[in-house]
Amino acid sequence: MWGAANSSQGMMNCIDLTIDYARERNVFDMRLIDNQWVHFKLAELKTEVECLRALVNRACELYITGQDVTELASMAKLKAGRLARTVPDTCMQFWGGMGYTWENPVSRFFRDGRLTSIGGGADEVMLGIICKYMHILPAKKKA
Ligand SMILES: Cc1cc2nc3c(=O)[nH]c(=O)nc-3n(C[C@H](O)[C@H](O)[C@H](O)COP(=O)(O)OP(=O)(O)OC[C@H]3O[C@@H](n4cnc5c(N)ncnc54)[C@H](O)[C@@H]3O)c2cc1C
Repeated sequence: MWGAANSSQGMMNCIDLTIDYARERNVFDMRLIDNQWVHFKLAELKTEVECLRALVNRACELYITGQDVTELASMAKLKAGRLARTVPDTCMQFWGGMGYTWENPVSRFFRDGRLTSIGGGADEVMLGIICKYMHILPAKKKA
């Protein structure tokens, strides 16, 4: 749950920084942000991150009441790892060549955020846990 919550703030930072940059940057005599593809895409990304936050909040609320939230926490971790790829990748595109530099914070998150799908249980491990709770894992053969 911490991993998902922590990543979601990093993603929000990526989106906010990209909005600031796209407002400043002029391409073909117009602000980058004024391209419908750009502002629609940023709105989609923020919607995805808010969905993740809602899942984390739900898991936290249930955890506080003493319930087993392993399934929801695994879903949040899985979704965070996936979004931690999509959000900086999409944002970096809007930064153009500036996004490709080492100093760029979105570029930094593009690499660092990748850990979410690997560390603390890889995506595939999260999927295995979710399947276990859904009772859809293949039955073990009796010896
Ligand atoms: C920067 C960093 C910090 C870390 N910090 C810590 C820490 O503080 N404490 C700690 O304990 N560990 C830490 N780790 C280790 C981390 O938890 C492991 O890297 C992670 O669990 C993956 O294990 P592995 O690297 O041995 O990869 P492997 O176990 O070799 O797995 C490689 C890949 O195989 C796939 N895979 C693995 N298992 C399955 C499966 N059952 N089904 C399908 N596919 C599968 C996944 O895609 C996985 O990424 C850290 C790793 C990094 C990179």
